[in-house]
Amino acid sequence: MPCIEDALKAAITELQSSGSESPSLDAAVLLCHVLDKPRSYLLTWPDRLLTAEQYQAFQAVLARRTAGEPVAYITGEREFWSLPLKVSPSTLIPRPDTERLVELALDKAPSVPASILDLGTGTGAIALALASELPDCQVVGVDIRTEARQLATENAQNLHLTNTRFLNGSWFDPIEGGTKFALIVSNPPYIDKHDPHLSQGDVRFEPVSALVAEEKGLADIRHIATLARGYLQQSGWLLFEHGYEQGEAVRELMKELGYQHVTTEQDYAGNDRVTLGQLK
Ligand code: GLN
Repeated sequence: MPCIEDALKAAITELQSSGSESPSLDAAVLLCHVLDKPRSYLLTWPDRLLTAEQYQAFQAVLARRTAGEPVAYITGEREFWSLPLKVSPSTLIPRPDTERLVELALDKAPSVPASILDLGTGTGAIALALASELPDCQVVGVDIRTEARQLATENAQNLHLTNTRFLNGSWFDPIEGGTKFALIVSNPPYIDKHDPHLSQGDVRFEPVSALVAEEKGLADIRHIATLARGYLQQSGWLLFEHGYEQGEAVRELMKELGYQHVTTEQDYAGNDRVTLGQLK
């Protein structure tokens, strides 16, 4: 059996030729997953030989990755806002750019205990990040998929975040009438169904219902922005993640609906990514 260093080298070559954009990282993360060890272990013990069982398990996960499956679905986890989260193919894999939405939401969060709503919560990433930073706030996450609600609830339990609650249903449906929130955040589906990027890379394995929306990707944003007016407190904020070409359209629709101080902010790559507005 090969040693750690040789197994990694061979895996990197294989991943490179399969078209992975991050072959060294993929190889290291997958080997750590098989060995159940932290990344430092690979650097500390490059000469340690793999057992036959470990080698076979590594080959099996490499085969899945070279067939295109996202690393996070193979390992079943992904870190978001420094929180280790369980992920599954029934939800989107949390993206680093979505941390921008969390930063901006924290900026708008009131300093008094408040209620916050995350629509289309998936793994619970945004809701849990906000709950971890705002222990005095109550964060509600909603998802139409029962699997997502279960996953988010499990993530909350693993992280000991007791100020969260996850509900099952479409957008505002499971929220009792009359409930008001200081902040409503959402990373809804926003990709146009004809977008060629849907047939490339990791998104091919993610649930279409979490990615694609009608009206060139704007239908769910419009729906949420329309109804959110009935669920926001006075001076409450609504924040959306959206596509890099949708800033203007989202600003327009929010202004038409009466939101004030509507602005678009950029992600870490400098692309328009989050638009926010305040209810009067
Ligand atoms: N930002 C994701 C992507 O482009 C899509 C996320 C979403 O549709 N909410 O892959």
